[in-house]
Amino acid sequence: MPELPEVETVRMQLRQKVAGKQIESVEVFHSKAVNHDETIEDTLRGKTIADIDRIGKLLIFSFVDEADVFLLAHLKMTGQFFFVDLEGDIAGGGHTMTESAGRDFPHKHSRVAFHFTDHTTLYFNDMRLFGYAKLATAAEVAIARGKFGPEPITPNFDCTWFASKLKKRKTPVKAALLGQSFVAGLGNIYVDEALWRAKVRPTRRADKVTKAEALLLCKASGDVMNESIKVGGTTFQHFVDTGGDNGNFTDYLKVFGQQGKACERCGETIKKIRCAGRGTHYCPSCQK
Ligand SMILES: [Zn+2]
Repeated sequence: MPELPEVETVRMQLRQKVAGKQIESVEVFHSKAVNHDETIEDTLRGKTIADIDRIGKLLIFSFVDEADVFLLAHLKMTGQFFFVDLEGDIAGGGHTMTESAGRDFPHKHSRVAFHFTDHTTLYFNDMRLFGYAKLATAAEVAIARGKFGPEPITPNFDCTWFASKLKKRKTPVKAALLGQSFVAGLGNIYVDEALWRAKVRPTRRADKVTKAEALLLCKASGDVMNESIKVGGTTFQHFVDTGGDNGNFTDYLKVFGQQGKACERCGETIKKIRCAGRGTHYCPSCQK
């Protein structure tokens, strides 16, 4: 499952490729990928992509002069977007696991193709069909937005608000941070990393985290994701960005996947436990 930095990387790179392009036709190879919507071809034909926005890990395509038509796309486990230009050059983003299906598009995992008037094409591929690229109204986009809290990577994210909200939670701090309605976008890897930076143990009850720790944790959450976005995300799940590069934030991880290794800060052995239903990594010495 790609985490937010990977999806943000895809968003930033994809918008450079497709913003301003007019859709000539839409080919649906598997109707589940478009939520069995038979109107998608007619609705999108002739529309020009204005921008790609994001809520959590949901990508939102908007269209020029269209206030009530959006395309919502979620990569889920195995989704990918591939943009094929006039020279046949391919820029892909998402999972590499359909590499076996070949690089001639469409291939067996291609679910939707958006053909542009300049003869370039955007493919949505998804081996396991958990992802989607479906139409939505402005009201539906608003509902989706309402399910997500603010993102720590937002400039001027309010860490005092973050600390006060954390104080009201009785779950382990890790579980609180994973909840997307509190803060959006923090996935398993980044929660573990942020907790290590803030020296807070994942199993601590959220309401027992001090304000000073919460402020550190807030800053760490934003920092760790912004740093990951800068280098294109992590690669565990075979992620490639739309430039075809592997993200390499894995080189910077301090606790995630580091169990058995020495903590870089204090030398204690990093432990792996289960917390909030997820594999959780922490230093038993310097994370209190
Ligand atoms: Zn340590």
